[in-house]
Amino acid sequence: MSESSSGQIDHVLDESRLFPPPAEFTQKAVIRTTEQYDELYARARDDRDGFWRQEALEHLHWFEPFDETCKWDSPHAEWFINGKTNASYNCLDRNIELGLGDRPAIIWEGEPGDTRTLTYNELKTEVCKCAAALRELGIQSGDIISIYMPMTPELAIAMLACARIGAIHSVIFAGFSAESIADRNHDAQAKMVITSDGLYRRGKVLPLKETVDEALEKSPSVQTCLVLKRVGNEVAMREGRDVWWHDVVDKQSGDLPAEPMDSEATLFILYTSGSTGKPKGIRHTTAGYNLWAKRTFQWVFDHRDDDIYWCTADCGWITGHSYIVYGPLAAGASCLMYEGAPNYPAEDRFWELIEKYKVTILYTAPTAIRAFIKWGDEHVDKHDLSSLRLLGTVGEGINPEAWMWYHKKIGGEKCPIVDTWWQTETGGIMMSPLPGITATKPGSCTKPLPGVVPVILDENGQSVDEEHGGKLCIEQPWPGMLRGIWGDEERFVSTYWATFKGEYLTGDNARRDKDGYYWIMGRIDDVINVSGHRLSTIEVESALVSHPSVAEAAVVGRPDELKGEAIAAFVTVTDPNPGEELRQELRNHVRKQIGALAQPDDIRFAASVPKTRSGKIMRRLLRDIAAGREAAGDTSTLEDFTVLAQLREEE
Ligand code: ATP
Ligand code: MG
Repeated sequence: MSESSSGQIDHVLDESRLFPPPAEFTQKAVIRTTEQYDELYARARDDRDGFWRQEALEHLHWFEPFDETCKWDSPHAEWFINGKTNASYNCLDRNIELGLGDRPAIIWEGEPGDTRTLTYNELKTEVCKCAAALRELGIQSGDIISIYMPMTPELAIAMLACARIGAIHSVIFAGFSAESIADRNHDAQAKMVITSDGLYRRGKVLPLKETVDEALEKSPSVQTCLVLKRVGNEVAMREGRDVWWHDVVDKQSGDLPAEPMDSEATLFILYTSGSTGKPKGIRHTTAGYNLWAKRTFQWVFDHRDDDIYWCTADCGWITGHSYIVYGPLAAGASCLMYEGAPNYPAEDRFWELIEKYKVTILYTAPTAIRAFIKWGDEHVDKHDLSSLRLLGTVGEGINPEAWMWYHKKIGGEKCPIVDTWWQTETGGIMMSPLPGITATKPGSCTKPLPGVVPVILDENGQSVDEEHGGKLCIEQPWPGMLRGIWGDEERFVSTYWATFKGEYLTGDNARRDKDGYYWIMGRIDDVINVSGHRLSTIEVESALVSHPSVAEAAVVGRPDELKGEAIAAFVTVTDPNPGEELRQELRNHVRKQIGALAQPDDIRFAASVPKTRSGKIMRRLLRDIAAGREAAGDTSTLEDFTVLAQLREEE
C-alpha cells in the first residue's frame, strides 16, 4: 500500500463474496435482464431530456403539460418547466382512476395492537377532509406547516393534505425537543403546527402536545396548532390557537379537488438529521421529486400488484417521505405502517408483524439489524418469515457480517438485498442493486440508477483509480435533486457546489471496484489519517464487526504525536464482562483482516455508542471523547444523552 496522495482514501478491506439473484426472482422481476438496465442507463445519460420527458408523461398526471424538460444552470436545476401537477393527485386520484380504489394503501398497526386499513378511496377521502380543514383554518398555497406526529395514518394524511392544497410541509421527527421544534418553526416561519396529544413508546405515553406548547412559546410565526387525539391524555388547549383534529376535520366533505401546482413549487422542506452539524432545511419540489420517488421505488423494490411492502422508517426522515408516502403511494402499493418500537412488547415485534401481514418486501436500517443481532436469533425463530421475497437497507453502510445475518436469518438465503445509498438531498435512491439482475456483494450499494452519473474525485478534482477511494460526486442533474437549503443560498452553494465546479459534492467517500461496483467508505469528515494513510471508518468497523463477539463498532481518529492520528474504536460486545484478553484478540483480528496499519490503538468497550435519532452513529462526538475534549458542536439531534456521559465516565 502506497502513501496516499491528493486526498485519496486507502482501501484495505476485501470482500469477494457474490450473491446472484435467485432465478425464480429474476423470472418475474420488473427489470430482468442486464441489457434492459444498460439500455435505460445509457438513454438517461445520453439523452437526459428525452428520457425524463417520456418518464414524466407516462408516470405523472399533468393538469397542464410542461414545455421544457430540464433547465440546468449549475447549481440550479428546474424540471418540467411550466407544467402543472399535484403530488396528492398522483398518489391518490390517479390510482383510483386506474381502478385501484379498493386496494389497501395503508395497512396500519399501532403500538398497543390497534389496527386500521385505508384503501386508496378511503385515504383520498381522509386527505380531502384534512385539506379542507387546513383551508378553513386559513392555510394557503405556499404556507409552511410543521408536522410533529406519531406514526399514525394521520401523519401521512396530513402530509398529503398539505400537498393537495399547495401548503409546504416540514415534518419534524416526534422525538425532537421543544428547542429543536422552535428552531425549525423559526427557520421555516411555519404558520401552523400539526401534532397529537401524545404518542405511545414502549407502552408509555410521551406528551407531544406539551412539548409543542413549550416550542410555541418561542414560535411567534405559528398561528394555529391542530391536535389529533391519539392517546387520550390530558392536554391544555389554548383558546384561539389550538383546535382538535376531530372538531375541524371530521365534519368536512371528503371531496376536494387537488390544486394544480407548478412543477417547481416547493412540496416540502425537511431538516436533515444533523450527523454533521446544524440541521439544514432541504427543499424539494413537486414534479421532479414525485417522479423520482415513484420510479426509484418501482425499480429498486421491483414492485408487483400483490406485494405487501413495509418500510420501517419514520415519516420524520426522508426515507419515510420517499418510501412510505410519495414513492409507494404514487406506485399504487399496499404499505404496512407501524407506530411503535421494534422491541415492544417484545423483541420479536417486527417478525410478528411480518408473519401477521404476510409482508413481502422489508426495508429497514443497519442500526435496526445490529440491534436484532444483539437481541438474539430466538426472537426471529418464533415466526414464519416465508412471505418475504426482498430485503432492503438504508441510512448507513451495512457491515458485511450484518449483511450476511440479514441474508441468512431474515431472508432465508432466498431474498435479494438492496443496499440503497442516497441522502435527504437526493430525494430518492441513487445507487442500489436492481434485485432481479444485480449480483450483490455484502457492503456494496453496487451501481447507479438510470439518471445518476457518479464520479469519484481526489483533492485536485481528478478521477481516482480502482485501488483507492475519493470524494463521491454526481455529475448531472436528476429530477429528485434538492433545489436549495431553505433561506440559505450561500450554504447551499458552499456545502454542495463550491468544491468542484459543476459537480454535486455528496459529502461521502466512495470507491469503485474493478466490476464497476460502488462502496461507500463513510463521510468525508470521518476519514482517519494514520501516518499519511487515509483510512475509511467503515472498513475498520466492518473488520471489527466480523469478530463473533462484536455487535457494533464505531471508529474515529484521535490526535497522535507520532502518527498524526491514532485509531480509537468504541465497541459493543456480546460478552457481559469484556477484558484485556478480548481487547488484544480484537486488535489481532483487525490486523489479520486488514493489516497492522488499521489496527486500533485504543479499544473501548461501550454499552452503546452515540447515535442520531435516526439511528446513525455520531462519530464527531466520539472524536471529541477519544481526544479527551468536551463534546463540542450541535448535539440537538443526539438520541440519548446518557450514552455520552457513560462513555466519558469509562475513560
Ligand atoms: P446531515 O447531513 O445533517 O449530517 P445525514 O447525512 O445523517 O445528516 P441523511 O440525509 O439522512 O442525513 O443521510 C444521508 C447519509 O447517510 C449519506 O450521505 C451517507 O453518509 C449515509 N448513508 C445512507 N445510506 C447509505 C448506504 N446505503 N451506505 C452507506 N452510507 C449510507
Ligand atoms: Mg448528510
